[in-house]
Amino acid sequence: MTGSGQSTVADALEQALREVYEAVRGVQGGKNASYIPALAEVNPELFGIAVVTRDGATHEIGDTRHEFAIESISKVFSMALAIEEAGPETVRSKIGANPTGLPFNSVIAVELHGGKPLSPLVNAGAMSTVSLLGAASAAERWQKLLACYGRFAGRPLALMDEVYRSEAASNFHNRGIAWLLYSYGTMYCEPMEACDVYTRQCSLAVTAHDLAVMGATLASGGVNPLTGERVISAAHVPHVLAEMTMEGLYDASGDWAFTTGLPGKSGVGGGLLAVAPGRMAIAAFAPPLDAAGNSVRAVRAVSQFANRLGLNVFSV
Ligand code: GLU
Repeated sequence: MTGSGQSTVADALEQALREVYEAVRGVQGGKNASYIPALAEVNPELFGIAVVTRDGATHEIGDTRHEFAIESISKVFSMALAIEEAGPETVRSKIGANPTGLPFNSVIAVELHGGKPLSPLVNAGAMSTVSLLGAASAAERWQKLLACYGRFAGRPLALMDEVYRSEAASNFHNRGIAWLLYSYGTMYCEPMEACDVYTRQCSLAVTAHDLAVMGATLASGGVNPLTGERVISAAHVPHVLAEMTMEGLYDASGDWAFTTGLPGKSGVGGGLLAVAPGRMAIAAFAPPLDAAGNSVRAVRAVSQFANRLGLNVFSV
């Protein structure tokens, strides 16, 4: 592509970003997650959209450098590490690759499938994923994950202490799930170690810009476009994107595929990441969530942006 061709693409992208931001910023509705006390206190007006292309160009608008808790979006990157380490077939046979059809923290889903979590993107599967990593101690397990997240983001990520403390003091449901998995033989380290490391990964601080870089690393086949470092092998990226498509937006994953057609993952901290393979990643952040647990404004913003640019992976 010529220089002017590139700037035309960049201009179109910038314009779409501005228009979508203006169209969505006033959208009301939804509520901050309140079952994790620290998340209820985040300013609900915050809103930002960041795009990073596979060659590392960044476009952003709004509160894209405000740090928030990554929460469930972390599950994508722990899954990627487990697939790198244990191989895709081990992850699929030990954890699974199917949507549960039930809420992200469902105990019933575990019971219904003989203790198999089904997806690394629900709480049970995410804790099982953490437990699958080879580590001799909780500290080693955590450091391994932290290093991997840093490679995806292109900078070291840090824990939000207040969110971690708040979540660790109230995560009784997840502790119950961890023990339940243990009883079925689908928890591969000490259950409270996996639960605690999982809680830490959910409490990492990211910005919308960080998420877009992490997603762009997937969009570019596993190489971080800012640092040039290969983070996961190209052969493993499709497995990660497939899981995001199947289970990335909680019980609304089908609606998301239908309306937007991009692998995505949301978190109860108000973040949403979508990946347009071979092209770019789009991340948005706005704390109030809908009934399914997805950010009201982030879903609208990313969906409108993707549709305007024709990013749907299912369109011919
Ligand atoms: N740490 C949260 C939990 O385990 C993550 C939930 C989410 O973002 O879906 O409940």
